[in-house]
Amino acid sequence: MNEMNCPACSASLTTGSASCRFCRVAVRWDASGPTIVHPELRAGVAICSIDLRREAFPGEQERVTLETFTAERTPHGAKVWLSADRARTFPVWGVRMRDQSVRTRWTAHDPGVYGGVVARREPIGKAYTTYAFQVRPEDRVFRLVRTRGGSVVECTAIVDWTPSSAVAPTGHPNELVLAARGGSLQGWVNGVGVTAIHDHSFGIGAPGLIFETSRLPATGGSGTFEGIEVCMVDQ
Ligand SMILES: [Zn+2]
Repeated sequence: MNEMNCPACSASLTTGSASCRFCRVAVRWDASGPTIVHPELRAGVAICSIDLRREAFPGEQERVTLETFTAERTPHGAKVWLSADRARTFPVWGVRMRDQSVRTRWTAHDPGVYGGVVARREPIGKAYTTYAFQVRPEDRVFRLVRTRGGSVVECTAIVDWTPSSAVAPTGHPNELVLAARGGSLQGWVNGVGVTAIHDHSFGIGAPGLIFETSRLPATGGSGTFEGIEVCMVDQ
């Protein structure tokens, strides 16, 4: 039988097969050989669902007041404030999965803030590897990054800041979903599929939320997360 190589991981691929046995990427065949395709991933059975309007995030207190960070549960959700140029991740450490769909709905209250969901956050020594799918409502853009690090974080854009009319502006809620199955990563903003790419850098870890602030305004910024839902992934 004719053999070719997987366009994602270079493992040998049997001609005509629908996916790579090694990295599980889906492929389509034409005269020039296999190319990667992204069948839509769908959220399956719910693993964990936290309503932040009613309960605190796992491992977090109902109210935290620090110089650079405050968090408070309100009737609208977990309201988080960060001083300028900071990032904070809220992982659900009780859940460690390969394939996961992570959903949140959050509202930015200030310019210069961005946030969303993380997947496959995994401790490696004193550092973490993480995928993060975020929107910056002020500019109505989204991005998908992978990060590595502890006190200093190295951030690599898989999809850099990209304008999308699906992103709601500051003061309006944005619903984000990041689904990962094998090396396939797909992101939705308010029900619109905005990105589908292949990256097999990180294979397993915890889902969670992420909130960040830019350098400006110097007063920092806040946002409110209504909840988080983690599901299995169907295809
Ligand atoms: Zn492969």
